Amino acid sequence: MFFSNLAALKTDLEQNYQNFPLVEKPSDLIHGEGNESAEVMLIGEAPGYHESVARRPFVGRSGQLLRKVLVESGLTEKEVYISNIIKVRPPDNRDPLPAEILAFKPYLDAEIKLIKPKLIITLGRFSMAKFLPEVKVSQVHGRLHKIKWNEQILYILPMYHPAAALRATRVKISFIEDFKKIRKIIDFIKTAKADDDFKSTVKEALL
Ligand code: URA
Repeated sequence: MFFSNLAALKTDLEQNYQNFPLVEKPSDLIHGEGNESAEVMLIGEAPGYHESVARRPFVGRSGQLLRKVLVESGLTEKEVYISNIIKVRPPDNRDPLPAEILAFKPYLDAEIKLIKPKLIITLGRFSMAKFLPEVKVSQVHGRLHKIKWNEQILYILPMYHPAAALRATRVKISFIEDFKKIRKIIDFIKTAKADDDFKSTVKEALL
């Protein structure tokens, strides 16, 4: 799927709202938000109640924590783009189903192709599984991964979901520590060359 810009992508989603599970009217859709040429793209799971009311991603309790740690990590909201694996609120905030993830996949893929972020931060397991299906968040959070995805090289930084951070202090501490590394990681990505020995250079840059 190709769109010339994010506005065209959003219009297309709204015009075709009937093709999407859980979507009863165009205003049920919660689009990604942020800078079309953001260096950092964050991908969450699905909008919750507050997001569906405000029609903005990550504005409820977990969103407030996310936005706070982002600012504390030195990134402004203008430097990032925030989206979700699915763009509609699941009933009772249940996990998104495989068919729902699949239905929104072409649009999320198109968002990534348009924005061309230097770094993608996945928030939680559903978003991480899009790029790193074989691992657990608890094993790899805060560790930079370089992957080949749809013929492009992507840098993926898996993070805990902020809702998980709100449920457990230990997770919250890791979540905050992981975000503190972001500036260094972006600087590393900007200076990395395509054929670098990734494992040793990333270690040097970050340890
Ligand atoms: N949780 C998510 O994964 N996304 C949101 O937009 C809000 C909460």
